[in-house]
Amino acid sequence: MNEKVEKIEKYLDTLFPNPHCELIYHSDWELLIAVVLSAQSTDKRVNSVTPILFSQYPTLKDLKEAELKDLERILRPIGSFRKKAYYVKEIARRLDEDYSGVLPKDRVELESLPGVGRKTVNVVLSELYNYPAIAVDTHVERVSKRLYLAALKDSPYHVEERLMKKFSKDVWGKRHLQMVLFGRYYCKAVKPLCNDCPLKEICRRSKQEKKKNS
Ligand code: SF4
Repeated sequence: MNEKVEKIEKYLDTLFPNPHCELIYHSDWELLIAVVLSAQSTDKRVNSVTPILFSQYPTLKDLKEAELKDLERILRPIGSFRKKAYYVKEIARRLDEDYSGVLPKDRVELESLPGVGRKTVNVVLSELYNYPAIAVDTHVERVSKRLYLAALKDSPYHVEERLMKKFSKDVWGKRHLQMVLFGRYYCKAVKPLCNDCPLKEICRRSKQEKKKNS
């Protein structure tokens, strides 16, 4: 295995030996909705609204019959709340009416639901069924590019393809979670914690900073 990739994996395993998804959910469809709500938001913010949402509308039937304006009021703190309220109501309707309340496991069917894209499907399949997948969110993309696991010009889909080649398939889900947590708490977009980072020597950002200061 490539030495650089080995170093990254070793460090991720040291930092996060048992990574887990930080979204709170109690059923498969709650996870799907929580992941949809997390677009352009944070897990923390999503976790602050989903207990209210799911306690006021505990079933898919309740959610599909909810008034949009009531959903918008609950979802307001997470941003893009009008669009997300529509997605929630429509996902609940489709799951209830087209799938008898059972979340499909098929990627194409999942991606046909409103607001559900490739990243969301990867998170859901990997989290619920241990399906090998690497979901590329903003953290995974940033960390991959800083560590030369991907090129700067790569789209999230290209980043995913590159990571799938670099990491062995049995750890794809784990590496995704570790990279999310590393990006969220260490390799942050602004003011990353570089001082004690053992990946400095193989980091694009660190190299650029060194150049700037020399
Ligand atoms: S040195 Fe800084 S920017 Fe580079 S990987 Fe480590 S934390 Fe991220």
